[in-house]
Amino acid sequence: AKDAGRDTIRFFNPEMQKAIESRIALETALRQALLRGELQLFYQPQIDQHGKRIGAEALLRWLHPNRGLIPPLDFIPLAEETGLIVPIGHWVVDTACAQLKEWETCATMRSLQLAVNVSARQFHQPDFVAQVRESLERSKANPARLKLELTESVVLENADSVIERMHQLRALGVSFSMDDFGTGYSSLSYLKRLPLDQLKIDKSFVRDITTDPNDAAIVRAILAMSRSLGIQVIAEGVETEEQQLFLLDNGCFAFQGYLFGKPSPIVDWRSQATQ
Ligand code: C2E
Ligand code: CA
Ligand code: CA
Ligand code: CA
Repeated sequence: AKDAGRDTIRFFNPEMQKAIESRIALETALRQALLRGELQLFYQPQIDQHGKRIGAEALLRWLHPNRGLIPPLDFIPLAEETGLIVPIGHWVVDTACAQLKEWETCATMRSLQLAVNVSARQFHQPDFVAQVRESLERSKANPARLKLELTESVVLENADSVIERMHQLRALGVSFSMDDFGTGYSSLSYLKRLPLDQLKIDKSFVRDITTDPNDAAIVRAILAMSRSLGIQVIAEGVETEEQQLFLLDNGCFAFQGYLFGKPSPIVDWRSQATQ
């Protein structure tokens, strides 16, 4: 009883009270952000071994009226907990499709692929396939240009239903990349069963690739394995030419990272592309 009493006192301490209030405030603000058009997609280029732009990843930003630009890691975990990630994720896919359609009018952008992040909770919604289909139909974007980035958390449970759903989406024409590859818990045996087009080597492995023999070994193993499975690989978080060289030497031919461009609003990017 004494302990319970202490816990109760703890619960009402002002810091905790404040934390709860600010969480609720954040949730309310995030709910409104979607309606008020405060969410925006930034785009980061993906390039091939010749330095040619082959695509982009759409990365979510929240342009808060008072707090400025809020990075996704500050609000996506809360969005996932509260389920807000579902309407937000729907908005992301819808906006990405509209963007793809717009790129078709620009010679330098027309052939780019656009990758969007899909959270596990979003992927497992019963109407996820229908929503992607609707976004594609409404925008009239070419489905072959849309790539869905899934994380290993998507396949944590019931791989069979995940595989079935991936096939339904593939039938629409979209492709798949396994994001943050190597950081999750998925079994390697899933890898050959999942209809994947691409693996994305996480930036945590790329960071010390030229100095840490363990990271170098992991990346080499990922590349060798993908080669034998016939899956393409892209490395994220490439910041230096040394990192890119290491990757090239070991058979990685697609890159994303600050070395080639930071995520930016499309307006900036298009003016660069047409210069
Ligand atoms: P991610 O999917 O692994 O995205 C890569 C992150 O690395 C991005 O952070 C990107 O800005 C950052 N990055 C890119 N190049 C470099 C580099 O050279 N060095 C370093 N250190 N970082 C680099 P960002 O934009 O803050 O996004 C963080 C995470 O938020 C993403 O990680 C993704 O998991 C999530 N996220 C972003 N947009 C969405 C979205 O629309 N939906 C969902 N569900 N998640 C999203
Ligand atoms: Ca990603
Ligand atoms: Ca990552
Ligand atoms: Ca991620």
